[in-house]
Amino acid sequence: MRLLVLEDDPLLGEALSTGLRQLGHVVDWFGDGTQADAAIDSAPYDALVLDLGLPGTDGMVWLRRWRERGLALPVLILTARDGVAQRIAGLDAGADDYLIKPIATDELAARLRAMLRRASGRAQAEWTHGALRFDPATRQVHWRDRAVELTGRELALLEALLKHPQRVLSKAQLQERLYDWGGGEPESNALEVHVHHLRRKIDPSIVRTVRGVGYALGAAEADS
Ligand code: CA
Repeated sequence: MRLLVLEDDPLLGEALSTGLRQLGHVVDWFGDGTQADAAIDSAPYDALVLDLGLPGTDGMVWLRRWRERGLALPVLILTARDGVAQRIAGLDAGADDYLIKPIATDELAARLRAMLRRASGRAQAEWTHGALRFDPATRQVHWRDRAVELTGRELALLEALLKHPQRVLSKAQLQERLYDWGGGEPESNALEVHVHHLRRKIDPSIVRTVRGVGYALGAAEADS
């Protein structure tokens, strides 16, 4: 998942981004609503983690603005233990879920997965495609019931393709799902290398090249 985190507390923001990255997600963390507002339309985020108590404009005000603007991104709000009224107001303002501070990163990640599952209309926790199975919770991949070891970037690439099984994704779109803004520019052929590795480790049919456009999920049939 590519996640946008808006949290002004530097320790918590750092802990959340580090924890979520360790779980294999791509994270852009902002401490300021104006920066997050500028970022929100410029990268293909899967979800937003939103602190309500922000300096200047309150998180709730940002959320209402974004929803009014038609932003459909799933939003999880972070809120204080005693703020029942605040939690209700947050949900009414368009949040999909909330978490009470102090936060356990594992729980946050599990709630984000559940939120995305609901948003995508999937009932099953595990994603399947032909003979491929991917468990977003454990990040484990199986091909024809055999476990496949993938690196973080390879997993992120596979996840991006599985999320849009009917779409052709351009190289730029895929790169945006693989790299946050902090890590510098990737090597120009990095994406091709990751695609090559997915085909070698899983099956040549798993990724389809669409010439001049990008890549799409392949047929990957069980009996191919
Ligand atoms: Ca705060």
